[in-house]
Amino acid sequence: MTTYQIGWLGGDGIGPEVLDAARSVLDAIGFRAEYIPADIGWKYWCEEGNPLPERTLDVLRSTNCAMFGAITSKPASDAARELAEPLRARNLKYSSPIVQLRREFNLFANIRPAQSFAGAGQPIDVIVVRENTEGLYSGLEIHPTPQSLVSALDPARRLPHLREANPADLALSVRVTTRVGCERIVRRAFEVARSLGRKRVTLVEKANVLRATGGLMTEVAREVAAAFPDIQFREAHIDTACMDLVRRPSEFDVIVAENLFGDILSDLTAGLTGGPGLAPSANIGETYAVFEPVHGSAPDIAGKGVANPCAAVLSASMMLEWLGERTLAQRLHAAVRRVLTEARTKTPDLGGTATTKQMASAIIAAAG
Ligand code: ATP
Repeated sequence: MTTYQIGWLGGDGIGPEVLDAARSVLDAIGFRAEYIPADIGWKYWCEEGNPLPERTLDVLRSTNCAMFGAITSKPASDAARELAEPLRARNLKYSSPIVQLRREFNLFANIRPAQSFAGAGQPIDVIVVRENTEGLYSGLEIHPTPQSLVSALDPARRLPHLREANPADLALSVRVTTRVGCERIVRRAFEVARSLGRKRVTLVEKANVLRATGGLMTEVAREVAAAFPDIQFREAHIDTACMDLVRRPSEFDVIVAENLFGDILSDLTAGLTGGPGLAPSANIGETYAVFEPVHGSAPDIAGKGVANPCAAVLSASMMLEWLGERTLAQRLHAAVRRVLTEARTKTPDLGGTATTKQMASAIIAAAG
């Protein structure tokens, strides 16, 4: 059996706690791997001016893939204040390490399954495939906005009030859509659907208003869909899709969306399934992948040993699937399902009193 090299990025808050739990489960089911820890998180921003040091990227480049816990992201004012004194004159800007990782390894697809396990809430079994590198999270942020740019963007003067705004009172975030970006994310959504035997892919956009960016995405999605005649293709507007997901979630199967819409939709679907402790994700590129629970560092419960490890364990199951270890992946997934369905062991977010370690032990026992 192959021994895999796995980059191990605990990060901040409950990140290391839930990753420890995932590790104990992976060990128990006999997954053979060498786990290589690497530095990431707020501490490294404060001490070194970079939450994702270059040495971490070097470590990851020598691995098959990585698991990532969570990071704390604080507002710009806190980032500036908490930076070590000697670094302050350097005009450093905090940049989210997970966003950096996605760019560095071109992890263009963020795959977020949402499945109701315990019969609570609406029955839902949806996979959100979110574009990870462009859209409204392109990073093209403009503030203050020079009048020369306003004139170039609005030559016909359709928005006169923008001409009157002071540069400091006008901010722009640029929604970037490229044919290449649309093509690869929609294709990935169809491939995910086909590999998992799913029947339908829904593109969620707002092309009737966002005519340029949404229009291009829709045009490309229709072209890609034509190459997958075995899978039904549908289109929905983001606003209608949110309402329908709450009212009729069973109408959705695989959803594909640009960065911001996918982010919002996957939190909505995570909420429908029982909250952040249950939502896993995978950031996947052509040759590398990073697996992470959707939740953040949860500073309110960090260090108390009560974080729900299920999202991290389900992320580990997605990692096994990506590595081609399908049998182990399914065993892990089934074990989490059994523990959640039996509901004898529950962390506080699920209404119980179990610790992170007790939850991990229950999953290990269920995995047989
Ligand atoms: P960050 O700044 O790192 O994003 P946050 O608190 O804003 O942190 P989350 O970490 O996602 O965002 O937490 C949101 C809420 O969900 C918090 O009340 C947190 O305790 C809870 N939560 C998140 N993850 C878990 C988990 N694995 N188990 C239990 N509760 C969780």
